[in-house]
Amino acid sequence: MSFVKGLKCRECEKDYPKEALHVCSHCFGPLEVDYEYERIKKELSREKIKSRGKTMWRYRELLPLDGEPTVGTQVGFTPLVKANNLAKKLGVDELYVKNDSVNYPTYSFKDRVVSAALSKAKELGFKTVACATTGNLGNSVAAQAVQGNLESYIFMPANLEQGKVIGTSIYGTNIIGINGNYDGVNRMCSEIADKYGWAFANINLRPYYAEGSKTYGHEIVEQLGWKAPKHVIVPMAGGSLIIKIGKAIKEMAKLGLIDDSNTSLYGAQASGSSPISTAVKNGSDVIKPVIPDTIAHSIAIGNPADGYYSIKAIHESGGWAEDVSDEELIEGIKLLASTEGIFTETAGGVAVAVTKKLLEQERIPRDESIVISITGNGLKTLEAVMDKVGKPPIIEANIEEFNALMEKKEVCTA
Ligand SMILES: *Cc1c(COP(=O)(O)O)cnc(C)c1O
Ligand SMILES: [Zn+2]
Repeated sequence: MSFVKGLKCRECEKDYPKEALHVCSHCFGPLEVDYEYERIKKELSREKIKSRGKTMWRYRELLPLDGEPTVGTQVGFTPLVKANNLAKKLGVDELYVKNDSVNYPTYSFKDRVVSAALSKAKELGFKTVACATTGNLGNSVAAQAVQGNLESYIFMPANLEQGKVIGTSIYGTNIIGINGNYDGVNRMCSEIADKYGWAFANINLRPYYAEGSKTYGHEIVEQLGWKAPKHVIVPMAGGSLIIKIGKAIKEMAKLGLIDDSNTSLYGAQASGSSPISTAVKNGSDVIKPVIPDTIAHSIAIGNPADGYYSIKAIHESGGWAEDVSDEELIEGIKLLASTEGIFTETAGGVAVAVTKKLLEQERIPRDESIVISITGNGLKTLEAVMDKVGKPPIIEANIEEFNALMEKKEVCTA
């Protein structure tokens, strides 16, 4: 049973059918999935959600399918970690890490959007799926296409980390490296989508894809005991995830699943690719595209598709945005690893480092609940930290050599 009315233009509110469409033909505004919230409110309760499997599909009334999900049915419900050690280091009272570095099956939050997009692609009858990727999306489309018996094409900038490249090609997909940055890849893929008629997760299926991100927010709220956090810090690439976390929390209040939805959203970018945070800091709602230059490849988008709407979501929530250098993001990765035992990738390092910065600026108060969004896994971006951690000493397998190390205190501790 479906609760999806159709698609609706975010600007002029013109209605469209549930097809592979993403821009309004009247005003060129982006299309968004439109739900029958009145009916959902009658159907959905905390008890009903709690009775279901621990996956993102426990919120299925709020996801854009007509039938049951067919791809990625086990994605989501990742841990919300109470981060007491990191809280102490940062000097805050109540801190959590939403840990999508262990999402199933490809260790990033992109498994959520891909599960939604590929399930929709199958509903719409597509046989071939594709994407333009900064890394994690390609990993997930390739893996989940296999599960769904779909053919896949992945287009990525040629300079990505080995973990992202091999973590895509291993699935037997068609993978194409392209010289230059993501923005060129994305432009070319729009033309390919038109010409070849494939389902591009983040282009012609973007309205459905983006809805998958909401479950990251739904889960935070449920895992906090049906309470909205006061502050959430989110790494931004195209700017979609941060918008959808805000939407998810508001949706849950609208449906009576929580009492209040007073959450401030904070966007995090790398300074070498910071068109959104720069606009926020300048008090502007106009994105000035940039050419990315950062090791945070997974969030290196110079001309973000949802830039304008992410700025709006940040402002309306009473939040802010910041960016950090590559050095700072590496420190962020190491800080999370050494306090909470969580190894995140570059985007997660950005989120941690931006949180630290916003606390220092007193943009975020120290005595209210804070959630840091950890969206990807550090084992995929080893290049970022390879030369920034200690090397283990190598000894023969005898106790005397170890005793000697202990005496000289030469055991590696990063
Ligand atoms: C894609 C991605 C993001 C941001 O996604 P947008 O919705 O495009 O802003 C954040 N973190 C990681 C690890 C990602 O792969
Ligand atoms: Zn329109």
